[in-house]
Amino acid sequence: MMQQVSSALGDFTLIDNDDLPLDNSLKKHTDSPYHWKPRYWAPWPLPKDYQLPNAGWTRPPQQPIKLTGVNVIDVEHGRILPDMTVKIRQGFFERVSRRNGNDDKFDIQAQPEWMEIDCKGLYMCPGLIDCHVHILAEAAGEDGWSDIMAAYRVAHDLKGMLGNGFTTIRDVGGATRHHREATEQWLIPGPRLYIGGPVLSQTGGHGDHSDRDAAPTPGMISDGNMGPMSIIVDGVDACLKAARKLMMAGADHIKICSSGGVLSPTDKVDSDQFTVPEIKAICDTVRSMGGTLVTAHCNTTQGARNAIEAGVMGIEHGSLIDEPTLKLMAEKGVHLTPTLIVQEMIVNGPLGAQVPKVSLEKAKVVAGATYEMIKIAHRVGVNIAYGTDIIVDVQLSEFDLRATILPSPVILKQATCNGAKVLGMKDKLGCIKEGAFADFLLLDANPLEDIKILNRPDTHLKAVVKDGRCVRSTVAGLEVEIPL
Ligand SMILES: [Zn+2]
Repeated sequence: MMQQVSSALGDFTLIDNDDLPLDNSLKKHTDSPYHWKPRYWAPWPLPKDYQLPNAGWTRPPQQPIKLTGVNVIDVEHGRILPDMTVKIRQGFFERVSRRNGNDDKFDIQAQPEWMEIDCKGLYMCPGLIDCHVHILAEAAGEDGWSDIMAAYRVAHDLKGMLGNGFTTIRDVGGATRHHREATEQWLIPGPRLYIGGPVLSQTGGHGDHSDRDAAPTPGMISDGNMGPMSIIVDGVDACLKAARKLMMAGADHIKICSSGGVLSPTDKVDSDQFTVPEIKAICDTVRSMGGTLVTAHCNTTQGARNAIEAGVMGIEHGSLIDEPTLKLMAEKGVHLTPTLIVQEMIVNGPLGAQVPKVSLEKAKVVAGATYEMIKIAHRVGVNIAYGTDIIVDVQLSEFDLRATILPSPVILKQATCNGAKVLGMKDKLGCIKEGAFADFLLLDANPLEDIKILNRPDTHLKAVVKDGRCVRSTVAGLEVEIPL
């Protein structure tokens, strides 16, 4: 059956697979990314140009997109560039220019393959970056750990995150290169992933959830019910070996624990974890094996000082860190990723009922202090990223919490270009610039005026595009290529 359809792309004919001449059927499937179907079938005898399926889920090249009249958000400078034309080709911003500028090279008439979208009144925001997630956090079932069930559960959460506008996430404990590659290949629609594998923790540290009365099990995964979230290592040699193994397994970064934490049942929040030589062995390994950085779960001043002395370039949470140490972080370019929402969910929300009493008490100590710490860190010039440490449903709520202490343009920067710096992707992610990855949101309100609009996606989020491919859209003419 054939059907005539009119769209912003022009008039075209929809063809049912059954109607295709056999020798053409393989090609026709890949004519347009918008009508592409995975390949599950080949005619017999095989056509002359038949090739063995090589990753049959691989999507065809995307259609170039031209967005006109759009208000581009320059997050770095906290300003709007009004009425712009943005061109996207093969996953990158190819051109960001003034409307009606001298742009003959890209004349739409001369290049009819472009899809043109009128974005008058819409704001184009770089895709959001969450620098502190654990995609495996919800993957453990009541019946214990299963890698296969975990993969399906992770797919569910990744779709949700992307649909809410997070086009990039950094996993700081659990995710592997396989998760990263599955999203890169669009096997699972999800954000771009930066991964570090399991967290490294000392025995009795924040990552050690084993039975405190059981014999020590160095080098083992900490708790079967938590899955591969952390590895226990003690001593310089063991740290060296574990770090090398994680880098071999494809880690972008490595996360360690340099102070106590909230959800770990046996450690004190203000305990120092790992010695400086142990941390240094891990930092040296990441540097020498081509990783980005080592980041430390760390709530305390001393934990931060030990980590920085050893070469750590990122601090997670940071709740109780004092002003001189925050200044030291600013001087040395050490990034900070605070996580307010997870603390709120424990202290004032439903997670409080699920965690042990000892964790609830520890959460109360850090929760109040974090707001003040963030204000000081911002004042002294620390690069602060957006982090949540939490389930997908409330991942956007961190915006509302930060809005109680910081102006909207500052928070938007944290969730975009500041996060890109943490990932070593400045000018490639978290910005609308020529040559950057085409990850963006279209909004009908300006988040520089009120950042909280980002946490009302059903009202204000009109489209999500990752890698130049649209996954969510109510904008006329902008078709969804990959439904979530
Ligand atoms: Zn975490």
